Amino acid sequence: MSDPASSHSIPCCLTVRDIRSLVAPWRQAGGRIALVPTMGALHEGHLSLVRQARQQAERVVVSIFVNPAQFAPHEDFSSYPRQLQRDLDLLQTVGIDAVFTPDAAVMYPAGFATTISMTGPAAAGLEDASRPVFFNGVATVVAKLLVQVAPDLAIFGEKDFQQLAVLKQLVLDLDLPVAVQGGPTMREADGLAMSSRNVYLSEPERAIAPALHHVLQNIKAGVAARQAVSPLIATAKTELEQAGFKMDYLVLRDAVTLGEWHGQLQGRLLVAAWLGKTRLIDNIAVDRVDTDRHIKD
Ligand code: AMP
Repeated sequence: MSDPASSHSIPCCLTVRDIRSLVAPWRQAGGRIALVPTMGALHEGHLSLVRQARQQAERVVVSIFVNPAQFAPHEDFSSYPRQLQRDLDLLQTVGIDAVFTPDAAVMYPAGFATTISMTGPAAAGLEDASRPVFFNGVATVVAKLLVQVAPDLAIFGEKDFQQLAVLKQLVLDLDLPVAVQGGPTMREADGLAMSSRNVYLSEPERAIAPALHHVLQNIKAGVAARQAVSPLIATAKTELEQAGFKMDYLVLRDAVTLGEWHGQLQGRLLVAAWLGKTRLIDNIAVDRVDTDRHIKD
């Protein structure tokens, strides 16, 4: 095991062999092991997942891997923020048991030939509509991480709500012996969902960005007041476009299946929009308040 951050006491594993031999005695000792997969550029959202993991497991592993397989050629793989030293400093403050930082050659050695291809929640017409390679890349790398680390529990953020649904399906379909758990979205004081990509925003864009969350809250309040959904969404889209966003989608879906919402008990409002060169996503729960169907027009 080598240690790229010798000033840290957290063991830092670079290879599958290293992480397996570190974790094996923990498993033999009978403790629960939790994994929090990330792409680094850590913020409070990631750390909240780590704290959630610590509450439920004796050992917590955080993986940091910017996964080339989930970026399309025109996407931001090369410019994605990479700051391992700062990430290790932050992880040191919450206290974890290991960091797993494989590089692309470890994850995808020469001759690598397998891709997990998913439908169901991965084909809900949300992120997949504009990012066609995304979920196959995510499913493949997460399946590998789950086999490599073999945790009892893996935690993912609700911030990436479709991704969470996809990964629950993956684990179910492949009979992987791990519990997948979601963690709530951490936000800046003005409501903007924390994201590693927020650093791309210019100062004026950063000032506009919280509007994304505000329109979700307005729609939620409108649904609670029994207003029809379609006009609420149309108004919100107009507001966002006038504020400078270029819309990708803004929809109310069934929170469980991600299919069409027909007044089901648990709904989820999901939005994706561009602000300049930055693509932002957000979502919130919208639970049905009564049995009236008139709120769905
Ligand atoms: P990423 O590094 O962006 O791939 O994210 C790693 C994990 O952190 C994923 O499970 C994300 O859903 C989760 N995550 C990202 N942003 C947030 C946030 N603001 N609050 C909670 N979890 C988050």
